[in-house]
Amino acid sequence: MLSTPAASPHLIWPTRILFAMSLIAISPEEHCLLTARNEELAGTPAASIAARCSFTPAPGFRTLPTTTSSIKLASILSFARSPETSFMSSSSELASLNLPLPPLVSAVLGQSLDAVDLLPSNEGRQSLVQQLMKGYGLLDHAKMQLLAPRPASVDDLAKFHDRDYAVELLRPRNWKEHENELSQLQRTILKRRATRESRDDRRAQAQAPCASYGLVFDCPIFPHMDEYCSVVAGGSVQAAEFLINNPTVAINWGGGRHHAHKSHAAGFCYVNDAVLAILRLRRKYSRIMYIDFDLHHGDGVANAFKLSNNVLTVSVHRADAGFFPGTGLKPVDGLGRGTGYEINIPTKKGLCDASLEWIVAHIVVPKIEGYRPQCLVIQCGADGLCTDTEFREWNLTISRFGTMVYQLVRRTGIPSLLLGGGGYNSLETCKLWCYITGLILGEECQAWAQLPDDLDDELVDFRELEFWTHDTPRNMAEQNTHEYLLCLQSAILGC
Ligand SMILES: [Zn+2]
Repeated sequence: MLSTPAASPHLIWPTRILFAMSLIAISPEEHCLLTARNEELAGTPAASIAARCSFTPAPGFRTLPTTTSSIKLASILSFARSPETSFMSSSSELASLNLPLPPLVSAVLGQSLDAVDLLPSNEGRQSLVQQLMKGYGLLDHAKMQLLAPRPASVDDLAKFHDRDYAVELLRPRNWKEHENELSQLQRTILKRRATRESRDDRRAQAQAPCASYGLVFDCPIFPHMDEYCSVVAGGSVQAAEFLINNPTVAINWGGGRHHAHKSHAAGFCYVNDAVLAILRLRRKYSRIMYIDFDLHHGDGVANAFKLSNNVLTVSVHRADAGFFPGTGLKPVDGLGRGTGYEINIPTKKGLCDASLEWIVAHIVVPKIEGYRPQCLVIQCGADGLCTDTEFREWNLTISRFGTMVYQLVRRTGIPSLLLGGGGYNSLETCKLWCYITGLILGEECQAWAQLPDDLDDELVDFRELEFWTHDTPRNMAEQNTHEYLLCLQSAILGC
């Protein structure tokens, strides 16, 4: 990665060139010359360009070999050259780039994750993503290594969560007995809505242990919740450990529960595996960047590192009066040493692929350039897809959202931990995650047609036969105007 460039408007373009070049992994011995197709830089050694730009490339800096194909060079330069040019390439360009594959990708998967299927808001989703990945041959891929999660203990959860809360989450319960309690609670809630219980009754309920830990409403206690919390947290921590030992790409699609707080559950999230994974990564990395693409603000993670300048959190989310969780409105936030290290990108309704790509190219990537993280943790919540059944707020497609995440990982070349998150159309969510995994493994995912034959009937509507059937934006207005995005950029980057 590059050192911070000197601030000068004249240097912006070469800086972007250098950054773009640094994103491409080329063997070090391929000595550099930028050739052809670029009049200004043709034949100029990278060191000269760097000198002109008044900054020093870091030791890992590599430049393009003379043999770089014209399409590859054109693609890189088009990214580097014009602020109007999308960060993205078309999938055909991507294929032609022929970037080296990461030596190893790990995914936390396996039968031991059955408990993840029990999460009430995403029933069966873990099995479905696993079946899709298996059906497209990703689990048997030569570069894929599967990890069975090592369940997290109370001590493990207490690295972030309050111990009392961790004990409550992992407390063994007689589930049969508790199911009765649950249905009683549901009856109580319904009754209260109908008859407006007395204030005293509500106070009594608020004092119950479950309510004080947020284990009510959208975070009810559910059968085998202890096992669920243990494997979700353990899975992300284990993926983080893999990344420490193999700085490539690690995945836990069952993770990304970004709303869980230190001592209470919120927004379908019980245990904050993202925070626990980042804490584990901190053992090796001193600068970690968390990037959250879920429809909702990644409040639990942002709050956890609000005081830290070792973890830069960036959350792109929908924000509006009354929209959960109601935070993440201030573009630049943080406290104490962490001031400026919490970035929020609150969006309006209708965010489309092109707008998200612009945000990534013109806000997120410059933050990467400036912060120079040693590791990325990317939350790939899928509730912003145009097909989401619970939320009809954003308008993203699998092909472009997935490609954007892939490019962020591959072009930065930074070790990355990918996590799941929201997503309430299970099949479309699992397709997105399967697609990202396939791209990272170098598969021709655009060619996927039929869904695999052996998907569980209970998880998939038997009429669903094709992978790309629903990959078309819905008819909705994009309220995030270019002017609005420029305002956000200006507030965050000060330009
Ligand atoms: Zn969400």
